[in-house]
Amino acid sequence: MSQWRLIRSSGWDAAIPEADPEGRWLHLIIDAESSANVLSEDVLTDLSSQIDDIGNHQGVDAVIVSSAKQDHFIAGADVNAIGSAENVDQVVDACRRAQDLFGRLSSLSIPSIAVIRGTCLGGGLELSLGCTARIGVSDPRTRIGFPEVNLGIIPGFGGTVRLTRLLGLRASLGWILPASRLPAPIAYRKGVLDATVPTEGFRELSLQLIEQMVSDGFRSVRARRKKRRKGFFSYLLDETTLGRTIVCKKALKTVRARTLGHMPAPEKAIEVARLSAHKDERHSLEMEAMAVSRLATGPVCRNLVSIFQDSERVRRGTDGDPDGSWPEDRSLMILGAGVMGSGVATIAIEKSIPVRLRDISLESLDRALKLIGSAIDQRRKKRRFTRYQQAEILSRLGHGKDLIGLGRCAGVLEAVVERLDVKRSVLAEVAPLLGDEAIFATNTSALSVTEIQHGSPIASRVVGLHFFNPVPRMPLVEVIPGEQTAPETVGIALALARKLGKYPVLVKDSPGFLVNRLLLPYLDAASRLLLDGVSGAHIDAVARRHGLPMGPFRLMDEVGLDIGFEVQETLHASFGERAAASPMLQKMVEKGWLGKKAGIGFYLHRGTSLTWNQQVKTMIKASARTMSDVDIISSLLDPMVDEAARCLEENVVLDAGILDLAMVMGTGYPPHLGGPLRAADSEGLPQIEKRLRAAHEAGSARSPCDLLVELASKNAGFHSQTRN
Ligand code: NAD
Repeated sequence: MSQWRLIRSSGWDAAIPEADPEGRWLHLIIDAESSANVLSEDVLTDLSSQIDDIGNHQGVDAVIVSSAKQDHFIAGADVNAIGSAENVDQVVDACRRAQDLFGRLSSLSIPSIAVIRGTCLGGGLELSLGCTARIGVSDPRTRIGFPEVNLGIIPGFGGTVRLTRLLGLRASLGWILPASRLPAPIAYRKGVLDATVPTEGFRELSLQLIEQMVSDGFRSVRARRKKRRKGFFSYLLDETTLGRTIVCKKALKTVRARTLGHMPAPEKAIEVARLSAHKDERHSLEMEAMAVSRLATGPVCRNLVSIFQDSERVRRGTDGDPDGSWPEDRSLMILGAGVMGSGVATIAIEKSIPVRLRDISLESLDRALKLIGSAIDQRRKKRRFTRYQQAEILSRLGHGKDLIGLGRCAGVLEAVVERLDVKRSVLAEVAPLLGDEAIFATNTSALSVTEIQHGSPIASRVVGLHFFNPVPRMPLVEVIPGEQTAPETVGIALALARKLGKYPVLVKDSPGFLVNRLLLPYLDAASRLLLDGVSGAHIDAVARRHGLPMGPFRLMDEVGLDIGFEVQETLHASFGERAAASPMLQKMVEKGWLGKKAGIGFYLHRGTSLTWNQQVKTMIKASARTMSDVDIISSLLDPMVDEAARCLEENVVLDAGILDLAMVMGTGYPPHLGGPLRAADSEGLPQIEKRLRAAHEAGSARSPCDLLVELASKNAGFHSQTRN
């Protein structure tokens, strides 16, 4: 079946669903077989033959490119093909082919206009840049952008070159480097769109605009584009060699500050855009294709694509996930208005879920309302929504010390203090008042869900839903069924997490669940290095350079040393000596050095300034010693790899891909390395096993687990083994 339709009609409504052969407009409409329109090999081949056919139509005024799908214009190129590119030549060919194809749209004897409604990303935007003009529908579903650098490549179907030629160097980098997905009005203001129309009546309004564009020979479109690039500064920065050097230097500095040099794609984008700003199109397109081919066959792109593919698996749901849905317009009651309760409330009301926030303390409620109000205000200022929408979002939030409306809620999320007795008494309090199908989700960090639900009359409706702090920023949620949790409850919990825009990963109910269990050996290894005389500030700096969002000591200060110590105690009780907390942590907690919240921990926290706490030295008996960066990183991360292998052995999580994704999304593990297990596979498991054995012989309680030993002996990897 053809994935595109070429239909001739006089009006647009006639084009969908049937043709009117007398028309002035040729409609080139994409309706790919997949749920989103993706520019796969088939879709591009089909497009090529439809473009060939355009010349057979006489007396046509313009070609209008649109999508038959309401939510998507074109979601992008085929990511699976990017991840599986075998060699440089194959990628260069694919890029050249798409560059030429989209270029043909602009060299037709009649103009081509893209009318964009819904997602228009990557290859979709590149196709539309091949058109003479672009009209965007101001629909909330319309999002326009180039996400390529997040996948380790640059727009390679002509996008880097054509966008730079359209907007100039500065503006083009402003689109490509942040990889943002912007709504139609902003895309219009920034010059990617030539016009916008409202959703209601968009077909008639677009036709009127196209009529005007065609009748004035696109003079007003060109005049607007020219005006945007007028002025001395535009001339200086976009048109002169000195200006372009300044722009690129600044862009490179910003990129390096963010990526620490680990991501080659943004740097390549700067190079290719700079060239496109002054070289001829053919030469620039050639450079663009070459750059993509090198990036797409490199390790960073492969890792980022794998992470993306696993995130799609989780977003859509893996085979065997229980079904469920969060009922439309039904509310969520959140118990506990602390850090986590207020975080979840913020995202829930934004995602159209009415929330009632309940706390036993009026001060906590007061603080939470201020926090939520200012978080929503910040987002409006970033133009995520209008003032009117802000008021609408806030109107979804109720609060109080009582349980009013509990019977009408589709579920409860408890985020009260981390104590089993308190969690169980809260469950006992709400159970008799809950509706028959409502779920009770607990945000516990480390308590057993099975123990929380034990003895409850609604045990089958209790489930763990572990969010990460700060909730609005962290995409991961661990979903933890207890022994008595019904599959329907898990299905509803997964649906709620997805409705909140999160990526829910199913995790077995075992101590520390997944992410905290893997973080602790890493944090503990850092404390032990410190006790051995290695500088703590240096360890943090090395971890940062490796790409972690913050070093282990900064992280412990952020989380709170008391909380870290409690979780470590829980793990110690279950896993024995390999999970024992370092003696230093306990001493620091006893001194009240709890981290950021106490103003003192491994660091002294004064406002935003941070200095190493020199008094920590008094606890260290060993004399100062240096260690290479490589040795520091393996000392920190080897125990994490071993613990991750144990989680796979114990089926804590479905597979190595999901484990890697959870660590990237739950801790910010460097995505360019593909997660701890992919990074271990790349290094080679025999080396890691050898180091763990040597550390064990030198006194560490941890020795490599059976799975790690077995894979190392076969020289296999976590990702290459077949698991049942
Ligand atoms: P918090 O101390 O900031 O807030 C807890 C709130 O619960 C307080 O406002 C308290 O007044 C309230 N509360 C106590 N008993 C209550 C009751 N019976 N009914 C209603 N409210 C009650 O705690 P937090 O950091 O938001 O953590 C909440 C839960 O989330 C804990 O189980 C914690 O382990 C978990 N968690 C925390 C983080 C984190 O980084 N803070 C991350 C993931 C999970």
